[in-house]
Amino acid sequence: MPELPEVEVVRRGLETQLVGQRLLRVDVRVPRLRWPLAADLGQRIAGQTLVAVGRRSKYLLLSFVPETARAGESGTLLVHLGMSGTLRSLALAPPAGKHDHVDLVFTGATLRYRDPRRFGAMLWHADADGPVATHRLFAALGAEPLSPAFHAQGLYGATRGRSVAIKQFLLAGTGVVGVGNIYASESLFRAGVRPTLPAGRLGLRRCAKLVDAIRATLTEAIAHGGTTLRDFFGSDGQGGYFQIQCAVYGREGLPCRVCNTPIRRITQQQRSSFYCPRCQR
Ligand SMILES: [Zn+2]
Repeated sequence: MPELPEVEVVRRGLETQLVGQRLLRVDVRVPRLRWPLAADLGQRIAGQTLVAVGRRSKYLLLSFVPETARAGESGTLLVHLGMSGTLRSLALAPPAGKHDHVDLVFTGATLRYRDPRRFGAMLWHADADGPVATHRLFAALGAEPLSPAFHAQGLYGATRGRSVAIKQFLLAGTGVVGVGNIYASESLFRAGVRPTLPAGRLGLRRCAKLVDAIRATLTEAIAHGGTTLRDFFGSDGQGGYFQIQCAVYGREGLPCRVCNTPIRRITQQQRSSFYCPRCQR
């Protein structure tokens, strides 16, 4: 499943290659994604110019503006890659394969959406319906980890009175989005916080350390992705995690890189957590 760093790399790629281009048409071969694709999507947005590519959690936000107000409604196309989705920008698009469900044909390139498992989504949100940030899909989401909206005070406030383990709190996505299973283990190690610690017992100073650790871990992953992905936007549907140099994840029984204590693995809500019993308290 594509994770936040991967989606961010896709966003940067789209921004560099497609912003400023006009959308000529939308070719929909299979509209049955997680939610059915609007049948009139092409009519609504063809002829419009892509003016920005944003991101909220793992949703890509493609903002379109018509040439004149009478030529259509401005708005944002929300794209989610689901479990197995990829987006590729193709200067010369080869014939579509079995899982190539949607093409957005721009003046200079075709943006091809492939999704074998069809858990992804493409939804049009017209500006007339309000700011895209208020979309119902974003209502329950926590802070963006790389934005100023994610800070120590906020994490401290969100965890007060919570007895859930900090690892599970991070994965839930209600305090902060985008911290997947591997990134949670790595961030907690970096911050010196044990994954089983009740979230409410994290003091303000340790919240600040954890915020910094999460930012650093995700930023590193994005930097890795930027170097491994060139022409292809997004994963091959296999991984979802960039090959970051893990300090604890997948290293059960191996010596901690800081103190040489063997790394432990435990299961929390059917997911593996890895930690150093000496460095993490
Ligand atoms: Zn250690």
